[in-house]
Amino acid sequence: MARLLVVEDDETIGSVLESSLERHGFTVHWERSGRGGLVAAGAGDYDLVLLDLGLPDLDGIEVCRRLRSSQPLTVLVILTARHEEMDVVIGLEAGADDYLTKPVRLTELLARVRAHLRRGPASRIAPAGDVEVGTLRIDPAGRRVFLDGQEVPLRTKEFDLIARLAESPGAAVSRDALMTDVWDANWYGSTKTLDVHIAALRRKLTEAAADPRLAPRISTLRGHGYRLERPEESACDSGSSR
Ligand code: CA
Repeated sequence: MARLLVVEDDETIGSVLESSLERHGFTVHWERSGRGGLVAAGAGDYDLVLLDLGLPDLDGIEVCRRLRSSQPLTVLVILTARHEEMDVVIGLEAGADDYLTKPVRLTELLARVRAHLRRGPASRIAPAGDVEVGTLRIDPAGRRVFLDGQEVPLRTKEFDLIARLAESPGAAVSRDALMTDVWDANWYGSTKTLDVHIAALRRKLTEAAADPRLAPRISTLRGHGYRLERPEESACDSGSSR
């Protein structure tokens, strides 16, 4: 049975989340503060954390960051009030895998939670054998990425994204395909999460590259999606489209 941790200080929302999720077969532990959430996450083995960003004791983003570093394999979904777009972007950059806006509809919550759990670490995208694109090497079994021989620390979704793009270097991959393969076929929300993850991926690859000008390049194809450039294409075309 999947184990969920809810970190939410609002009594009404917290109790609705707890009772709804329990009624649908999940084991739920509810914490009302950021510190409580961090302690509980460290002590228990949770598959997924639902994290409210507006917490009384700690900044939700900070909680998100700490949870991500201490629980790399736990799915982290932030809960945010509608229209707090900046919070969503910052939360995703701080390591969240997904977000839901409040008030959360039960059908959407259940669909997302189930989708994330289905795609747990073992079932995430994993092409056979190492994949090499120029000086970029992807080790699907270990879920590790190396650039110029140095490991690039990537989060779960960042790894899934680069692995998906690297399946066909030089080929365009549509946003729909990326959302379906890396997130879920029944994606309800905004695809902003995709752009945020791509941005983080680019930044990490540039930072890790021995020569940033030769970093693997992910081009944006407006209105379509993204493409991981083959190294020779990146090298010839210095007019970056990113
Ligand atoms: Ca709150």
